[in-house]
Amino acid sequence: QNHYDILIIGAGPIGMACAIEAQKANLSYVIIEKGALVNSLFNYPVFMTFFSTSQKLEIGGVPFVTISPKPNRNEAVEYYRRVAEKFSLNINLFEMVNQVTKNTAGTFEINTSKANYTANNVIVSTGFYDVPLLMNIPGEDLPKVTHYYKDPHLYAFQNVVVVGANNSGVDAALETYRKGANVTLVVRSGELGPHVKYWVRPDIQNRIKEGEVKAFFNSELVEIRADEVDIKTPEGIQTIPNDFVIAMTGYQPDFSMLRKFGIDLPENLCPVYNEETMETNVKGLYLAGVVCGGLDTHKLFIENSRIHAEMIVNNIIDA
Ligand code: FAD
Repeated sequence: QNHYDILIIGAGPIGMACAIEAQKANLSYVIIEKGALVNSLFNYPVFMTFFSTSQKLEIGGVPFVTISPKPNRNEAVEYYRRVAEKFSLNINLFEMVNQVTKNTAGTFEINTSKANYTANNVIVSTGFYDVPLLMNIPGEDLPKVTHYYKDPHLYAFQNVVVVGANNSGVDAALETYRKGANVTLVVRSGELGPHVKYWVRPDIQNRIKEGEVKAFFNSELVEIRADEVDIKTPEGIQTIPNDFVIAMTGYQPDFSMLRKFGIDLPENLCPVYNEETMETNVKGLYLAGVVCGGLDTHKLFIENSRIHAEMIVNNIIDA
């Protein structure tokens, strides 16, 4: 009874969209999720506002009603929970998929932290938020360093270094500055990231201009110690006092997991799949959602990847 037409790995928005499509097509399915429902969104900063309007985050045709055009993290988490409830989606939470193999009969065998399953098809919708891009510098493993910024209150009246000037870094710098932190932004390139939300950009630009947030451009954090950090700047190494480092250096899909499942990964680490069907080089093994983008994590988002659900289920029905 642990056999399904489709086993979906990951209960993010796109895994959920796949489940809804499977349900509509009367296919049996289960979602296996290693954390909470929409675990990535659950772990976003508590005051984060989406760059997408709520309409573009909708799945399963369920309206996402918000007063302001762009929802915040709490509204989105609640929306997806209500969608799961509405469709009575079959989801096993806090269960991690360890391995997916295909037996000689062509059936997938899936091993998880709790059970074994078989399935005719597997959809990998595991996102990119579980593996941070590391700086690989001394001190990165100190407890005062985080790659997952949550709540600005923690940093009140502290010396904080924020690494990275894309959306996550800029949001963290502004929020902690407004809670009274002494913020230094360390940016590898010569300017703020090109994708910084257009309504946030002038705010950070003005804080830097006024000297309220210090910024080192063309600079890198090179060492973190208990009470200070070293920053390599064009003028040489600068050592400044430090209590916390918020490393917003980006994330990447779990490539070792994809390889383990047998998915081809060329040198550019963009997984191989058919763009019309989302099927990988392994027949019956599909990719869905932002995991498809490889290292280009800004190319796919909910709006332009929720369509994967329909493409995959149509392909499974036609097979
Ligand atoms: P995810 O939501 O990441 O879901 C993947 C799920 O798979 C997770 O719940 C994870 O726990 C689970 N999983 C992973 N490995 C396993 C395993 N081995 N076993 C079981 N479960 C597993 N996108 C937008 O469209 N609009 C935005 O405004 C937006 N803002 C963002 C802000 C931030 C700070 C970040 C980091 C991302 C943002 N994104 C935004 C991108 C957004 O994360 C994705 O669009 C969305 O989460 C993609 O959904 P997904 O289902 O593909 O992946």
